[in-house]
Amino acid sequence: MGTGLLLVVSGPSGAGKGSICKKLIETNPQIKVSVSATTRKAREGEVDGVNYFFIEKGKFETMLEQDEFLEYAKVYDNYYGTPKKYVLENLKKGNDVLLEIDIEGALQIKEKFEEGVFIFILPPSMEELKNRIVGRGTETAEDIDKRYGSAMDEIKQVIKYDYAVINDDLTRAKGDVEAIITAEKCKLMRV
Ligand code: 5GP
Repeated sequence: MGTGLLLVVSGPSGAGKGSICKKLIETNPQIKVSVSATTRKAREGEVDGVNYFFIEKGKFETMLEQDEFLEYAKVYDNYYGTPKKYVLENLKKGNDVLLEIDIEGALQIKEKFEEGVFIFILPPSMEELKNRIVGRGTETAEDIDKRYGSAMDEIKQVIKYDYAVINDDLTRAKGDVEAIITAEKCKLMRV
């Protein structure tokens, strides 16, 4: 049995990567989703151990010292990291693993796992991106400006990814990601 695919999905805040990943998992429950650790406070409806492991900064730093993260990044004043063990164990078992992480973290993964599949989610337009961030209603005005400002810079990084998916329609965008997975599995080097 070969190793599974390491699927790394990034994109600016509001591009809809979370919605695409959620939809992808609904119809592809065999894909293992890595749950990140974060020092950010849980938003309403978020569940510890499901959306994230919500931990204190001190615990995050201890995990960092003990080399328990595959990658980590400071995003909008909070730390986020991918616990190493779950990802490596599942890849070894032949399972595909999905990481929904920011660009800085994705580039760290790329250095370690060249064979990862790097997918960038793009919004249909910058105007639509702003509407989505505002419409989510979970961020303060200051956070909205911060996230929108970063999005402009982040989009320039698309060139470092293997694939770009435009999220103008959720079902179609999810289909594009499935097509990418199929194509990757059919690559001669993998069969
Ligand atoms: P949010 O606070 O909206 O849940 O996530 C903020 C950003 O952090 C998003 O771009 C999300 O993809 C990213 N993120 C979530 N988990 C991780 C992680 O484990 N590592 C890194 N580098 N970024 C993450």
